[in-house]
Amino acid sequence: RSGRHTYMSVSTEDITAFIQRFADAVTEHRRLLTRLDSAIGDADHGENMNRGMQAALQRLSGDDPAAVLKATAMALVSKVGGAAGPLYGTGFLRASKAVEGKHELEAADVVSAFDAAFEGVAQRGKSQRGQKTMLDALGPALDALREAVDSGADLSDALRSAADAADEGKRGTVPVQAQRGRASYLGERSIGHQDPGATSTAILIATMTGDDDLVARAAEDASDKEPEEGPGVDDDA
Ligand code: ADP
Ligand code: MG
Repeated sequence: RSGRHTYMSVSTEDITAFIQRFADAVTEHRRLLTRLDSAIGDADHGENMNRGMQAALQRLSGDDPAAVLKATAMALVSKVGGAAGPLYGTGFLRASKAVEGKHELEAADVVSAFDAAFEGVAQRGKSQRGQKTMLDALGPALDALREAVDSGADLSDALRSAADAADEGKRGTVPVQAQRGRASYLGERSIGHQDPGATSTAILIATMTGDDDLVARAAEDASDKEPEEGPGVDDDA
């Protein structure tokens, strides 16, 4: 541990509020998620996520953050038929296990939860980064979060960095050919479309910041925009 004090920790109430914000964001943006899925899948990602998160809201109770995350996981696994439900469910369940027994999560605990979620999705999906899936948003977010926390950033700033990285990762799925899930059946025809799961993951991470502007950005479809404009290089790495 760096020994630096972080000025924010995450309580059960904070986690509950985050799940509520995510459910609201999914409802608000479900048409976008379904439209993205209609281009390279079966046009149900928005409805799948909305059904799962509405079910999660019905069971949102628990004495500690782990219990809230677990309740969310169970709702997603049991109420969502598509690939994303079990994958998100696994992510939330692993995150829950990573923080079991803690009543307040410090920045390092949030990193552990992200890490566990990433590994869980990768294992369950037999997937890795670069295959045009939700991992293309979650992986960069994990890296950015860890780097920020390791360098002593406040948790709220670290989450903003994670949201920036997730959004960039989401946009980065556009030119990629899908190698997992239904989109992979399209082969080269999956190129030029933004991955729905990477988009919902970018929305999820943006909702953790509590900043509605970041949520709105996460819900943009980058394939609508002109590619390769501007310098295309950023020097903050
Ligand atoms: P389905 O494909 O069963 O209709 P959804 O439409 O709800 O399920 O979710 C599709 C999203 O799930 C994809 O956009 C992708 O991000 C994600 N996904 C699919 N398969 C995998 C996998 N093996 N690993 C990680 N993510 C995956
Ligand atoms: Mg689908």
